Amino acid sequence: MSEISTVLQLTCSIKLFYHNTDLWYNIKRPEMQDEMNMKKQKKDWILIGGLLAIALLTAIGFWLFSDRGTQVTVYVDGEEVGRWSLEASVDEVIQTEAGSNRLVIKDGKAAITEADCPDEICIKQGQISRTGQTIVCLPHKLVIEVEGKAEENELDAIAK
Ligand SMILES: [Zn+2]
Repeated sequence: MSEISTVLQLTCSIKLFYHNTDLWYNIKRPEMQDEMNMKKQKKDWILIGGLLAIALLTAIGFWLFSDRGTQVTVYVDGEEVGRWSLEASVDEVIQTEAGSNRLVIKDGKAAITEADCPDEICIKQGQISRTGQTIVCLPHKLVIEVEGKAEENELDAIAK
């Protein structure tokens, strides 16, 4: 998730900033080093607490704003072969050159429930329901993706 790397980058730059300030104080007033070290420790805890809070809020925000998908699109070898509403009740066997996968959409969630691929990783990926989530069956070159209205609007805006 790009949010996490942003938080990490922020952590690094804030840390660097604090380091430089401390360094400056230490050079200027070496007799105050002990006091500064104690202050620094306290400051570190405040910093860590603050960053944890930011990370938590980012995670909550991501969860709230990554919106529920509205449709499920199935691609085989990059070609779209089917599209269903996530609200529909679907039980379809998708035949590919390499084998078949059974797609089930129920209660707003999509999943592969059966497949004749050797690894069955697609089945283990479980249910998906949020925009951008995918199930991939590599042996069958099959991708199932949840798409949403927000995403389409964004694409439209870019196209215009
Ligand atoms: Zn599979």
